[in-house]
Amino acid sequence: MGDYLIVGGGMTAAAAARGIREVDATGSIAILGEEPHRPYARPPLSKALWQGKPEESVWLELPAGVELLSGRRAIAIDRKERRVLDDRGAAHGYRKLLLATGGLPRRLPYGEGRIIYYRKLDDYRALRALKGERVAVIGGGFIGSEIAAALAQNGKKVTMIFPDSGICARAFPRDLSDFVTDQYRKKGVEVLAGEGVKDAGVTTASGRRIEVDAIVAGIGIAPNVDLARQAGLQVSDGVEVDESLRTSDPEIFAAGDVANFYNPALGRRVRIEHEDNANTMGAAAGRSMAGAPTKYTHLPFFYSDLFEFGYEAVGDLDSRLQTEAEWKDPFREGIIHYLAEGKVRGVLLWNTWGQVDRARELIGRPRR
Ligand SMILES: Cc1cc2nc3c(=O)[nH]c(=O)nc-3n(C[C@H](O)[C@H](O)[C@H](O)COP(=O)(O)OP(=O)(O)OC[C@H]3O[C@@H](n4cnc5c(N)ncnc54)[C@H](O)[C@@H]3O)c2cc1C
Repeated sequence: MGDYLIVGGGMTAAAAARGIREVDATGSIAILGEEPHRPYARPPLSKALWQGKPEESVWLELPAGVELLSGRRAIAIDRKERRVLDDRGAAHGYRKLLLATGGLPRRLPYGEGRIIYYRKLDDYRALRALKGERVAVIGGGFIGSEIAAALAQNGKKVTMIFPDSGICARAFPRDLSDFVTDQYRKKGVEVLAGEGVKDAGVTTASGRRIEVDAIVAGIGIAPNVDLARQAGLQVSDGVEVDESLRTSDPEIFAAGDVANFYNPALGRRVRIEHEDNANTMGAAAGRSMAGAPTKYTHLPFFYSDLFEFGYEAVGDLDSRLQTEAEWKDPFREGIIHYLAEGKVRGVLLWNTWGQVDRARELIGRPRR
């Protein structure tokens, strides 16, 4: 029986392996991952790799002696025997198990095989290999907006299609979202806001036919909870964990995009789909698994780059909340506070750097 088994193979898995090694220098660690690659960073797939960084820059460091079982999917957990079965019929024993299975892209009810649901290194490679120039990007949230900007910067003719009023309209206040949408149009991106898609042709909901060479969809993810469900673990929006990142089975932990945890600053259970969460929570889970229980109270930040604009943010970025903007230069540099019941729930640092810790301190505090 191995000591530590990590099911996943993404950023959380890599961070967990490092966390385990901080505490246990000799225990055996195996990472079982479905993708045919060693763990890599996902954020560059929609940013740095389109701005000239080499593909090799995505590979993540792993501590010495980690066994990589790549290209295998875990299909069942036998909790009684403490082993995980994979799709090749092999069984992998564990003393402590981590579920770091992330999320699966939401899919549209048509165009199976034609649409690239942008999530993985192989999706990046497929899009890079594209011969044609015309790309439809379905979705105007974090992934859609980043990949549309990246493609436009690489000479592609991009049409964005999404139902909201503007780019990142669910996160940014209306005036900022409108400004960003306008900037995209000025950069040559055709933005069809408030629009749906009827088929993978592409025909829009209002009946316009758009000829494209590729379709990329970024319409969100759903936590990959199949394995946890099969094992009878407590699952809601994600796999539920306690403050030490244990699931309802004390020998099984969960972290990263798939985990649902209580965050004290926000005062509720959350599931967070960002890099800082994957890295920090993964490392904390690793330490807990190795016998150094680590309370996960961290409030993760996230970041994005859209053409010449960039931002960092913490907390709830929900445009339905009341917002207050402090602009140094309108829509180009400033800070936006998201408020509910007089308290700060989220902070958006727009082209404003080095203030994440200060922003974190504000969350949950009354807004003066
Ligand atoms: C294109 C892109 C850009 C992003 N940009 C940013 C950004 O700018 N800022 C930011 O903060 N965050 C960003 N993110 C989000 C960030 O990358 C994720 O939060 C992070 O990757 C989550 O890591 P994870 O390991 O928990 O899950 P995942 O990355 O989803 O990895 C889970 C892995 O588990 C594997 N797996 C699932 N089920 C099984 C199974 N049963 N058996 C074996 N393997 C399995 C999957 O194949 C996958 O490889 C971006 C994400 C994408 C896709």
